[in-house]
Amino acid sequence: MSPHTRILTGLVAGASAGTLVNVFAGGSPLLIGFVANVAEPLGRVWLNGLIMVVVPLIISTVAVGVAGLGSLAHVGRIGLLTLLTFLLLTAAATLLGLVAVNVVQPGAGLDPAVTSRLMETYRGQAQGAMGLAQGALGINTFVNMVPRNPIGAAANGEMLAVIVFALFIGVGLTLVGRERAEPLRRLLESLGEVMVAIIGLVMMLAPWAVFALIFAVTARFGYDVLASLIAYVVTVIVCLALFLFGGYATALRVLAHRSPAEFFRKARIVMVTAFSTSSSNATLPTTLRVTEEELRVPAHIAGFVVPLGATMNMNGTALFEGVTVLFLAQVFGVELSLAAQVVVLLMAVVTAIGAAGVPGGSIPLLIMVLGMVGVPVEGIAIVLGADRILDMCRTTVNVTGDMVTATIVDRFERGERTAVT
Ligand code: ASP
Repeated sequence: MSPHTRILTGLVAGASAGTLVNVFAGGSPLLIGFVANVAEPLGRVWLNGLIMVVVPLIISTVAVGVAGLGSLAHVGRIGLLTLLTFLLLTAAATLLGLVAVNVVQPGAGLDPAVTSRLMETYRGQAQGAMGLAQGALGINTFVNMVPRNPIGAAANGEMLAVIVFALFIGVGLTLVGRERAEPLRRLLESLGEVMVAIIGLVMMLAPWAVFALIFAVTARFGYDVLASLIAYVVTVIVCLALFLFGGYATALRVLAHRSPAEFFRKARIVMVTAFSTSSSNATLPTTLRVTEEELRVPAHIAGFVVPLGATMNMNGTALFEGVTVLFLAQVFGVELSLAAQVVVLLMAVVTAIGAAGVPGGSIPLLIMVLGMVGVPVEGIAIVLGADRILDMCRTTVNVTGDMVTATIVDRFERGERTAVT
């Protein structure tokens, strides 16, 4: 069996087993104890194994990638192209979600009894998230992008700050001359290779770990929440699927000049990992490997675009945010004018850039957007119970968008390289 098929088998088996025990023994203390003390910890050990290599991997790939670009002007050009592609994809995804939610109106028909039951059940969780929303995005987010203490930033998981530090190392390598740069460049390269070897080991456990993670999610999941929010959940998932297989396919054909079928075949393992982990950060090592080895994007481009994408390019998250804000506005009967919807669009794009690539990373920022356009923020409780499933789907879109961007940047670069030679 190929690695991808083995992981997919773990996913399907875990989801089936979890759903089954949920139906027959949902809520039983034995099941709750098993999930909390066996299935979830097993999954988390594996996740930790993936996340453990992320910081050294980012430092190595971004620095070596930037050094490989050779000059500051080249870094600037690639950087601009990357950011423009991120923005284009994120805005397009959000627009699709906004149009769909206006057409389908999933919030209009929601039974008020369901609304109050969900608000009651998830009040505590919502309050926790609202606490995190305080100051989640502000001028300090911008200031802290350049870390005063890079080790502190790494320890706190501030990925953007780590990337900026690595960017500077890469630029520094190009400034000191080849002879002086060589020892550090080779050390970083070797560090990256060792991290990739570790990921290979960790990924060998993926089928079992994915089984445990998905089992834990599905065994504990409140399917009744999913059922009562069905119109909203279906709107989000259908839009994500449309963007994944329609939007990206178009971008791949038109902008990257690649076959979408081949791209998706090669990207499968990344998509399954993103779906199982709900975390762009945890998926990053796999995304990087596949972008370089399978999609054949040169290391200096992949090493620059993919880590940046894992923190900044969240197309699925932006789409989800747009749909959710409008859905909750519909539930509460808040009329959002076209101008307000444009604010939602802009804020969804900005907050998707600011969201952390961890499970539920976008929820505090989503709360901020709700507040900005006058939708009651406590309303977040209504959707929290269904969020894990949506998170799995939007993370899959997020990481696929990073690979799509890498192929687009590669195509434009390639054009330039052949034009020069
Ligand atoms: N879980 C998402 C990711 O890691 C972020 C989010 O939308 O909550 O990409």
